[in-house]
Parts: sequence; structure tokens; C-alpha cells
Amino acid sequence: MLHILLTFDYELFFNESYCSEKEILIDSTEVIRKALDKEEIKATFFVDTPCVYRYKEIGQDLFPTMVEQQVNELLDDKHDIQLHLHPSWFKAQYEGEKWKFEQNDYSLDKHDNPVELIKKAKYTLDSLAGSNSNYNCCAYRAGGFCLSPEEEILNTLYRLGIVFDSSVCCGVKMESVAQTYDWTGIRRRGQWCFNPLEGVRSIGSNSCVMIEIPVGTFAQIPQKWSLTHGHPKLNYPPFKGKASPVEEIRKRNKIERIKDRLVASFTTPVLFSMDSLHFNALYKIAQDYMTVSQKENREIYICAIAHPKFSSNESVENMLQFIKKVRNHQKNGIDFITFSDAYNRLDIIRQ
Ligand SMILES: [Zn+2]
Repeated sequence: MLHILLTFDYELFFNESYCSEKEILIDSTEVIRKALDKEEIKATFFVDTPCVYRYKEIGQDLFPTMVEQQVNELLDDKHDIQLHLHPSWFKAQYEGEKWKFEQNDYSLDKHDNPVELIKKAKYTLDSLAGSNSNYNCCAYRAGGFCLSPEEEILNTLYRLGIVFDSSVCCGVKMESVAQTYDWTGIRRRGQWCFNPLEGVRSIGSNSCVMIEIPVGTFAQIPQKWSLTHGHPKLNYPPFKGKASPVEEIRKRNKIERIKDRLVASFTTPVLFSMDSLHFNALYKIAQDYMTVSQKENREIYICAIAHPKFSSNESVENMLQFIKKVRNHQKNGIDFITFSDAYNRLDIIRQ
């Protein structure tokens, strides 16, 4: 059986914003929540708490209050609240009614005290949701998939009671000023156990105590082209903010850049992303994982990813079409679960 975890990275922009926090995050999450509730589907929201921490720190309580209320409503509805961390917020400065970010602060390895920052982020989440009986923080997703310094992060998470990581997207790599990660060395279909002392690549080691449930990817050629080019593109309203710049570390010349792009088009997998993929493409990726699950006769757990800040009525409708298609065609082969559901099956998953 294939278990899909619908996950939403609950966060603001780390660059210029063109709308209010309410419009960017609270209202768009509400649209998603209503859509999920209509289908009786439970999802996981990875809450970026350093942002809440900084708003509180400078005495702006309106946004943290809205987040607290929404997080608790989601929990009351049996959705899942887990930990997400974009550390640039810790050093963000509020100037002229705008947040200013240093792109160099984007990942934890650029900070002196990653352990302290993870603890701060986790305690902030506890302060928002800790009194809700449905709260069970057991999973982490690194901001921008940057899980570095890996062993320090994983050990701290484990000591805080977090047993799932969801920062990996197998086969994908990024090398920019802000964001650097390389998951090209991992070619796994579905989840695996690992030892936090040895890192996320210590697949199947003797003392496997943590579990990676990665964000799904699809790498086969030529099918992957039809996923992105074979379906109508989703139409989006103008973005509510600016994405972090993906400025290259090394300035390459034009020919090198074209060559890189060509190589990447063969080697970079497609992400199981509800932000951008047509529902038929999402369904094909799900089918592919299900085929592996049936062939290898094992349970597979995999995440689909989306961001409320990028969502639109059309993308939410597209997600619903995907859910309905799975339910109509694969009712017995695929289900939708949360990280808390996975936590309740921990012993089975670890086997
Ligand atoms: Zn994020």
C-alpha cells in the first residue's frame, strides 16, 4: 500500500512581500483547510516558527495571534502541526515597516548556534500548540531542504522527541548563494530508517531510530517530460511575494550555464509538488510509487508538498481533483495520512 502525506510548508516570504501576512498565509491556509475538510482528508502543516518568534520579539503580536488561532483550529480538525525552520528569520531586521533578510542567513550552517536555534523554533511551536491535546510534534522539515549541519540538526531533533525527518527530495540538488543541498546520492523509493548520529544517508544501519519520509520525486526519462509538459499549465494570479533569489555561487559563462541546464533537464527529477503539477501528473507520480510498493511488496510512505503562500483557488481545486482521482481509482492501494498517523505506526515502519 502507498501512504501519501499531503504536506504544506506554512510560511511567509523571505524576501519582499506584496500583500499582508493575513492574505499570504492565513487566508490561503483557510481555503486549503476548507477544501480538505470537504473531502475529509487530513494533512500536515509544517509551521515555520522562527518567523513567529521574531514578530513576537519586536512586539508585533497580531500575526503570532492569528497563527496561534489557526494552528489550533487545524489541530481541532485533526490536521497535523509539525516543525519547519527558516533560520533567516532569526536575524531578519524590521526596517521601514518591512522585513530585511540577508540571503546568507538562509541555512542553519551559516549560523553560529544551530542547536539553540532548533530548540528555540521547537519551543515556539510548543508555545503555540502545546496545550492542544491533538498536538504531537514528531516531524521536521528543513527550510529550503537545507539539512546542514546534518548530524547536529538530527541529534538535536531526536533529543527533542522528533523521529521523522522530511527534508530530503531524492535526486535533487541545489547550489545557490542562499540554498545549498545535494540529495543526488540518495536513490530510494519511499521512506527509510537511519541513525541520527551517522546522518540521513546511514540507510538501514543497526541502530535505526529515525525515519526519513522524503518529498516524492520522479526521475524516469522520458516520462518525466510528459509530467511537466504534457498537461495544461496551472494559471496563477500574480505572486504575493518574491521568492528567495537563486543566485549562483560561481558565476558561470553562458555556454556553461546552457550546458548545466541541459544536463539538469536529463538528471533532475520532478518534485511531487501540488504547487505546480497538474492533477494528472500528480496522479502519475502516485501510481509510480504504488507500482514499486506492489512489486516490492512493501508499504511506502511519501510526501507531496505545497505552500499556502503560492496557492490559488485553481491550485486548491487541482489538489482536490488529484485526491478525487486517487479515491476513485486507487481506493484500496493508496491512502492519505499525516505524520501523527505515521507516528502511531512507528514500530511497523521501523521494521
Ligand atoms: Zn519552507
